[in-house]
Amino acid sequence: MISFHNEGGIMYRFIFLLFLSFQTNAADFVHPYPSFSEGEKLYTFPDFLNAHYYISYDSENKSASIKAEISFKTEEEGYPLFDLKENPTRVELDGKEIETPLVDSPKKETKFRVMNQLTSIGVHTLRVEVPLKFLLRYTDKGVDSAFWLADLDDRSFLENYIPSSFENDSVEMIFDVSFKISADQQIFANGEIERTGDRDFRITFPKEYTSSSVYYHTTPLGSFNERRFEIKSKVSGKVIPVIVYSKTISNFNSYEESIRQTMDELEADYGPYLHSSFIVYDADLSRWGLGGMEYCGATVTNLWAVQHELFHSFFGRGVMAANGNSGWIDEALASWRDGGYFSNQNMRERRALVLDFPYVKKTNRLAYSYGKNFISFLDGNTKMPIEMKLFMKSLYQKKSWTPITTEDLIVELDLFSGNSYQQLFDEYVYGNKSTLDASELWIEPNSSEHSIHRKISGEDLYKIL
Ligand SMILES: [Zn+2]
Repeated sequence: MISFHNEGGIMYRFIFLLFLSFQTNAADFVHPYPSFSEGEKLYTFPDFLNAHYYISYDSENKSASIKAEISFKTEEEGYPLFDLKENPTRVELDGKEIETPLVDSPKKETKFRVMNQLTSIGVHTLRVEVPLKFLLRYTDKGVDSAFWLADLDDRSFLENYIPSSFENDSVEMIFDVSFKISADQQIFANGEIERTGDRDFRITFPKEYTSSSVYYHTTPLGSFNERRFEIKSKVSGKVIPVIVYSKTISNFNSYEESIRQTMDELEADYGPYLHSSFIVYDADLSRWGLGGMEYCGATVTNLWAVQHELFHSFFGRGVMAANGNSGWIDEALASWRDGGYFSNQNMRERRALVLDFPYVKKTNRLAYSYGKNFISFLDGNTKMPIEMKLFMKSLYQKKSWTPITTEDLIVELDLFSGNSYQQLFDEYVYGNKSTLDASELWIEPNSSEHSIHRKISGEDLYKIL
């Protein structure tokens, strides 16, 4: 690491620029969000380098708390933004206590927390203390707690629980989890879990993870039926451990068969599975007509949607979305697979999948229907022929673990096909932005359209905790 506090000679600046350009190309901060100003203040988006979260559960007080230590880098002087829904009890920036009020994005599509301290270019340390209140329940057996995420709601990724960066920013994350609880707890998480003490665990997540990647669920030992099995990849030879757990299912044969078949299909079509395991929480969501939610190598779902969710470990949580305006890509691709990869030569409708809200966090629901139709039109368009499945294979091999934007998709389509897709995207993806408003994002799918990602409410999540 190069120190940013030295005197700036020419040679130093040269090294500094090299360092910056290397950093820009690295996967950890591919698409910095643009800073914005309000009055005299410039609000900036820092690059989180690593984040260490200490999560403590206390059954006597029936409470839980988070202490976070985050190292981040800023490349502009200003007021750095992050997000955290719950009000923190104490925040320190470089050892000095600061306030972190909420600020609106310029078009009010979301809110951020701001470190209310003019912050110089360089590396800084943020410490945050905050209670954990959401999705927490104590019983006589222990504690149920989960950091479940949602991509159809605003501010519902990790910021719903812990201080977090954004979907464009890969961060090295560690959870140190300790239980002041007499009974034993188990943890389901898509990171490496080690037992570090009698009631202490450390979870180390892959460094490519962003605010929409982490799966974390703890529950008293023995609360669930489960099946563990292994899939040996026919493509890479890698052994992929799979866990399926459920309260309502005890025979997991259909699950195992579906996951094995789908893994073989997707690896044959797109290439080797990226993640070190696949975790499935069967939450019996179909009772409420819900499908599920995807994570990197994990999902909360039910049997009829598990194929769709495993697809997301390739697109969505393999090739990742850099922001809410690119969330439509993986839902359109997943829905296109669900519908049997059909081709269409025509596209009658013209809607907007990308809206003029640069900081939007949630996915446009038109992705499942209109977005799917647009992908089938790309595949069937005789004026600009492209085999979309082959293109997807190339995209997966090139952009795995990388957050992408809609603009990246256009560049990759152009490179793959030799055509120019900008005009087609202007017409069918960007639409006429000036006539649209934020309400476009809240369109409910028709009942005839599948509801794999129908919005899950906080109350629903407590039911499945
Ligand atoms: Zn989906």
